[in-house]
Amino acid sequence: MNIANLRSTLELNEIGREMYRLITDLYPICRSITGDGFRESLSLVKNQIPLRLHEVPSGTPVFDWVVPKEWNIKDAYIKNAQGERVVDFKQSNLHVVNYSTPMKASMSLAELKEHLFSLPDQPDLIPYRTSYYKENWGFCLSHRQLLELPDETYEVAIESSLRDGSLSYGEYFLPGESADEVLFSCHCCHPSLCNDNLSGVAVVTFLAKYLSSLPRRYSYRFLFIPGTIGAITWLCLNENRVSKIKHGLVVACVGDPGKFTYKKSRQGQAEIDRAVAHVLKHAGQDYEILEFSPYGYDERQFCSPGFNLPVGSLTRTPHGRYPEYHTSADNLDLVQPVYLAESLFRYLAVINVLENNQKFVNLNPKCEPQLGKRGLYGTIGGQKEAKTIELALLWVLNLSDGSHALLDIAERASLNFELIHTAATALEQHGLLEKCLP
Ligand code: ZN
Repeated sequence: MNIANLRSTLELNEIGREMYRLITDLYPICRSITGDGFRESLSLVKNQIPLRLHEVPSGTPVFDWVVPKEWNIKDAYIKNAQGERVVDFKQSNLHVVNYSTPMKASMSLAELKEHLFSLPDQPDLIPYRTSYYKENWGFCLSHRQLLELPDETYEVAIESSLRDGSLSYGEYFLPGESADEVLFSCHCCHPSLCNDNLSGVAVVTFLAKYLSSLPRRYSYRFLFIPGTIGAITWLCLNENRVSKIKHGLVVACVGDPGKFTYKKSRQGQAEIDRAVAHVLKHAGQDYEILEFSPYGYDERQFCSPGFNLPVGSLTRTPHGRYPEYHTSADNLDLVQPVYLAESLFRYLAVINVLENNQKFVNLNPKCEPQLGKRGLYGTIGGQKEAKTIELALLWVLNLSDGSHALLDIAERASLNFELIHTAATALEQHGLLEKCLP
């Protein structure tokens, strides 16, 4: 695979629009960590890639956790004394605390307020709340609306169910030349939230779709799972397979306009950490690199000490750092096709580094080979870049002693991996370089 042609072959704008379309279709669905909303979401992804669906029964022990009961919801509302729905699940699925137990009752405003959640600092937005592991019920509404509720009797109903069922997740495996795997994982358990969850789903889906059409050195595994419990469940059921994972990224928050942010794996200097840092450094945009911390998305589970997998997380603005986070403002206006496309392209650039980061041996190591007589100076790039290309050729020749891979050389030379890779390919074609066997 060669990313040099990607920008031209990939109709990035069109792919951005397709990803946005998928997000638009997924947006209204009330997802949770289990239930029909999650299944319906997976079925929309399955229209794009041949996803395998798994169901893990409630009550299944997974390490220190247990797969919870399955939650489903039909309707929920708060009616005022006139019988009008003042808070209506059908207007926004964020209005109900996710995993609320079924209930129906009349109550005073004071009693109701015990179960109402709002954001005084962002009075126009509906917050996103969950109560997965503690049975409870509640409603979320804008603070402005909360303040305006008259002191009267309300009729409150949540038509939900919490029963033994199963936890669903989706998995797609793309075999490559090697059994070694690259893992991409995204959470899809949030209801109507776009950047936090749906942007990751869209980018992983289209990454999988695109990679399926290319020759691959690595095998690729794509997970569409509920946050935390999904990663724990997958790791528990696949413990004997995880040693195949050589690189991985948790994909989330990739549709907003913010700068790219990479959170390193627990290992900190894994090849994936270096590959992402390299891509961001040479992408010509502002970016940030964060050290690993045991908080965030599912890298927490993949990087738990018993697994310690080389899995980082590449986002734009990370969770909790944008004002729309976990509110009704994380909507279809916040994410935009252009940012999704840019994120997809950044991920592909990282994959390109991983795929081509191989070691070579210089077959003419005693003094420099004469590059001019082989026409090597003129064959790649234009006149303007000639000096940089010459430098790349010399670095590759000098460091290709069987112990430096191309990313080592790119880092040492402070040159873009793409240039180093192009130089190595040209030298190999001219018989000056030979690939080391893995
Ligand atoms: Zn979240």
